[in-house]
Amino acid sequence: MLTEAAVVREPNGPFLIEQVELDDLRPDEVRVRLVGAGVCHTDAVVREQVYPTPLPAVLGHEGSGVVEAVGDAVVGVAVGDHVVLSVNTCGRCRQCLAGDSTYCADLYARNFGGTRPDGSTALQDGEGGQLSSHFFGQSSFARRANVQARSVVPIRPDVPLELMGPLGCGIQTGAGAVMNSLRPPAGSSIAVFGAGAVGLSAVLAARAVGCTRIVAVDVVPERLELATELGATDVVDGRDGSSAERIMALTDGQGVDVALETTGVAAVLRSAADSLAIRGTVGVVGAQAPGQETAFETGLSMTRGWRLQMIIEGDAVPQTFIPQLVELWRQGRFPFDRLVTSYAFADIEQAFADSAAGRTIKPVLRFETTDAEPDRRS
Ligand SMILES: [Zn+2]
Ligand SMILES: [Zn+2]
Repeated sequence: MLTEAAVVREPNGPFLIEQVELDDLRPDEVRVRLVGAGVCHTDAVVREQVYPTPLPAVLGHEGSGVVEAVGDAVVGVAVGDHVVLSVNTCGRCRQCLAGDSTYCADLYARNFGGTRPDGSTALQDGEGGQLSSHFFGQSSFARRANVQARSVVPIRPDVPLELMGPLGCGIQTGAGAVMNSLRPPAGSSIAVFGAGAVGLSAVLAARAVGCTRIVAVDVVPERLELATELGATDVVDGRDGSSAERIMALTDGQGVDVALETTGVAAVLRSAADSLAIRGTVGVVGAQAPGQETAFETGLSMTRGWRLQMIIEGDAVPQTFIPQLVELWRQGRFPFDRLVTSYAFADIEQAFADSAAGRTIKPVLRFETTDAEPDRRS
């Protein structure tokens, strides 16, 4: 069938809205009509080819939509279900079987490889040229997608579906790092480095689990203001590089029980480690480029017993964790919608530009269905 997708054809090139051909649904796939799709930093770095998903490609990995068709081998999903689309995993390796599927042995190929496991892609352009598909099992910068079943997360139908896509990656990453990985108890302290979509989701989660000191660190004053509105008890402007000293001063020289690094900047990770209390843990969700290193103090560190924990996708099993976040949102205890700004699908370039400039925390593209809807059966 024909549908419309945003195609990246060259490194750092624009998102071009094109008519594309979506192939037949495979037995282990679900065809989804997209309603919304979040814009995540990972889409931007793949467009830059830091992670070399083959171009041309259709990106997008925070989709939300309605199920239109279900492959014969898929169970637990029905036509008409409202779904959020998340990370894709194999379901068979040791990590997947142990419930640690975000560390799936096949994670890179299934999320960044640009094809199905059999090497085929679901998408062709108007000239019959192959387009990378199945980005995070979905490639959701498109009006319709054939999605790997492991990426599909059914949610309750009585919440605004167009808003829910970001739960599939960015929001899950920040909230999960707090709620699944670091697990600070009620009454404990946390410092969150970086007040973007991931960091602010961590602030929201820290508030939801009852942290009583929540320090947000960023270099953009407007973001620190928003962090305060969302539950940060203290904010630190990181521009002068003294954030660790400032956090120590805020905590009477004790440091924080947990810290979360969301920026991908080595010096910021060092500051996060230096902000920890004795036996504290620093979690890392900010992706650094392959080969990047960070130096830590190790002499006095031993007596402090601090830990470093790498975290992917908030250690979440999306099919259980995303419905939890939806429920917290419904109860007003996780207002992640405060991070979202909506854009029409046609304005995808503006959405990325605003995100890069810091004007928007979490852009969400909306796929309005109108009489002029270009989708049709071929
Ligand atoms: Zn696996
Ligand atoms: Zn993402």
